[in-house]
Amino acid sequence: MDLGDPCIVCTAENTNTVFTTDQFIHQNCPNCGEFKVTSDGLDRIGEYTNPSGLGLGHKKRAILSSWIVSQSQSGAVPTLTANIIDELLCATPQ
Ligand SMILES: [Zn+2]
Repeated sequence: MDLGDPCIVCTAENTNTVFTTDQFIHQNCPNCGEFKVTSDGLDRIGEYTNPSGLGLGHKKRAILSSWIVSQSQSGAVPTLTANIIDELLCATPQ
C-alpha cells in the first residue's frame, strides 16, 4: 500500500493505491472513489493520452471519473477495462 500516488483517472494526488498486481491496479481516489483499472485499460489510457501529448484531458478524465462514481452506486468496485474505456471515450469529441 502506497499513499500519495496520483489517481490514474483524474490525477488527484492524495489517492490511495490499495493494491497493484500484473492484472490490475486498485485505487481509492477522493474524487472518483474506489475503482480498479486492468492492465489493458492502463494501456488504453496511455494510447488516448499519447497522440495529443497533453494527457487524457479534462473532458475525458471527467467522463471516466463520473462513470466510476455511477457504477459505484451498485455497491461493487467498478473496473475500467480497455473495452469500457473505448465505449466511454470513442463517442466523445476531442
Ligand atoms: Zn480520481
